[in-house]
Amino acid sequence: MIVRKSPEEVEKIAAAGRVLTRCLWMLQRKARAGVTTGELDDAAEKFIRSQGGEPAFKGYRGFPGSICASPNSMVVHGIPGPYVLSRGDILSLDVGVILDGWVADAAITVPIGKVSTAAASLLASTRAALSEAVDQCRPGKRLGDVSHAVQRRIEADGFAVIRSLVGHGIGREMHEDPQIPNFGEPGTGPLLEEGMVLAVEPMVNVGSHDIRVAGDGWSVYSRDGSLAAHFEHTVAIGADGPRILTPWHLEEAAGTRSEAGLAASGHP
Ligand code: MG
Repeated sequence: MIVRKSPEEVEKIAAAGRVLTRCLWMLQRKARAGVTTGELDDAAEKFIRSQGGEPAFKGYRGFPGSICASPNSMVVHGIPGPYVLSRGDILSLDVGVILDGWVADAAITVPIGKVSTAAASLLASTRAALSEAVDQCRPGKRLGDVSHAVQRRIEADGFAVIRSLVGHGIGREMHEDPQIPNFGEPGTGPLLEEGMVLAVEPMVNVGSHDIRVAGDGWSVYSRDGSLAAHFEHTVAIGADGPRILTPWHLEEAAGTRSEAGLAASGHP
């Protein structure tokens, strides 16, 4: 069952989303060659707790980190640790924040210094796919329209959407109904209605869509070792269209300036 949220409840998720957004901006600044993913994890946990929040991933089904940090061919669920970032890496940073009992979830994939042309186009394509999918999050659309928007963009750009990992509804729980595949038929699936809150998250490989889970039980890699990217927003469906509750796509300076007005909608 898809739980619809009241306007007050959406504001609670938006408050968690603002902490999360500032955390991602901070991580983006810190993610440089020579830094370990463990250092990023520590910084994220400190920041989230300093804002009165809790890192949603810490302890989730036993996950040891506060964030997921997944470099290069790792798609998602990377455990932060001794990995030292190098120039030319791409790094997916996935963060969840619980504030006042409500959860927000978002991810970005960042380049570490100058990256290959293939890596840069993978990032641009995955981010564009998220933007196009978010634009479908309006009353009267169907879930398949969201899924299809991701698939259409990614496949047009010659990349592969991962089939066995999905986005999700979000609210009191990090993972609520519905599951949101990154492929599908337009005009199919549940009708989208005002008050639904969705974590939309394209996960994309350069090569084949197959994945494998590493021996740590968490880290998910592209099976063929090709580069992978992941971008995610928590989005509320408003009467007039999507409202992004994790507006990391805004410029940090502009976002901070307009934070009072970060009744932020708009597109990534
Ligand atoms: Mg998610």
